Amino acid sequence: MYMFDDSRACHRCFHNKDLIDYIRQEGQRGWCDWCGGRNVYVVPLYRLGDIFREAVCIYEHDDNYSDSISFLLQEDWKVFSDKIEEAPDDLMQEMTVEILKAGLTEKEYFTDYPNYDEGFRHEEPWLEDHWHYKAEAYFERERTLNGLNEFAEGTDDPNYADFPDQLEAAFEDLSIDYESGKVLYRARIHKDRSRIEKFEPSELSAPPPDKATAGRANRKGEPVLYLASGDKTALSEVRAWKGTAVAIAEIKVRRSLSVVSLLKYEPPESPFFDDLIKWKVQLARLFHRLAYELSMPVMPHEEKNLYFSTQYLCDWVKKCGYAGIEYPSAMGNGFNVILFNPGDAEVMSQKYVRVNGIHHSTSPLRDNEPIYEEGPFDYLFDKENQKMLP
Ligand SMILES: [Zn+2]
Repeated sequence: MYMFDDSRACHRCFHNKDLIDYIRQEGQRGWCDWCGGRNVYVVPLYRLGDIFREAVCIYEHDDNYSDSISFLLQEDWKVFSDKIEEAPDDLMQEMTVEILKAGLTEKEYFTDYPNYDEGFRHEEPWLEDHWHYKAEAYFERERTLNGLNEFAEGTDDPNYADFPDQLEAAFEDLSIDYESGKVLYRARIHKDRSRIEKFEPSELSAPPPDKATAGRANRKGEPVLYLASGDKTALSEVRAWKGTAVAIAEIKVRRSLSVVSLLKYEPPESPFFDDLIKWKVQLARLFHRLAYELSMPVMPHEEKNLYFSTQYLCDWVKKCGYAGIEYPSAMGNGFNVILFNPGDAEVMSQKYVRVNGIHHSTSPLRDNEPIYEEGPFDYLFDKENQKMLP
């Protein structure tokens, strides 16, 4: 027996563009039973059932949480129009549940689907967790193999080679080309007070292997070239103090290169009509985290395993055939670039500047403000929204 609801919803009930387009295309002119619109495009609810049920797979049914499924959909994606959202008696929740049940028999609903009237929460960040677990295991293994890099070929151990092809596809979506001759920047603080000559151009490139310390993108002894999009960003990245002399080099890319740009990453805009939405939401979270990790300044005496995650990323990007990776700068307005092969770029010229002052723009931290700032995509994953029931 179908849980029969013969009501109809219209394109004006929704804010989500995909749903509006769908209803305008598939609907007929008529009256809307939910928002009261007249002479609008309407579809019977069962036409929306599968579309909604596939989208809400990004949430977990969990009655320990007090968020309703409609609240999550609206908060994360703004699915419904203002009129529906603001309607009395939680019409939005009633409508959501009716849509989620629409087209199912009672038996199907009670056997195969969660109770949509109960609480829901965001999925655990399994991809992010898995990534960090893998990164750790990968480097532990490398260590036990005496530094032998087993990564590139022949990783038949299923624990080390199970990232899906979608990751490679995601890199491809994010890839951009650098033309030969593109100019980037790199700064180096002139720390040695006893040295009166300026740096040679070669000293502004990557350090030689015996001087290369481990970093976000490289292991000890394996230099890569850390670059910045502009001279100001390069200067901010070295965190020079007042009075220091800093050499800033213009660095030219020597051949055309394909790099992965984490700056290009955008979280999905809509949860509907997308078979891969579950994966994409996870991927958004992972890439957001990796961009954050890469952009964090390296602290002296930092735990070595804090580099594992980003080194692991760089290994993957390299393995997929890219020459480098772009990521946001936490220190300035521009962005940073890592080229895996320092020989892919050369120093063209350098100038010396003296740091006259450092200007930070600040605002007082309110008493209830979290110490860590939220990132731009956190609305997708905001744990604060997952209120526990008392
Ligand atoms: Zn309507």
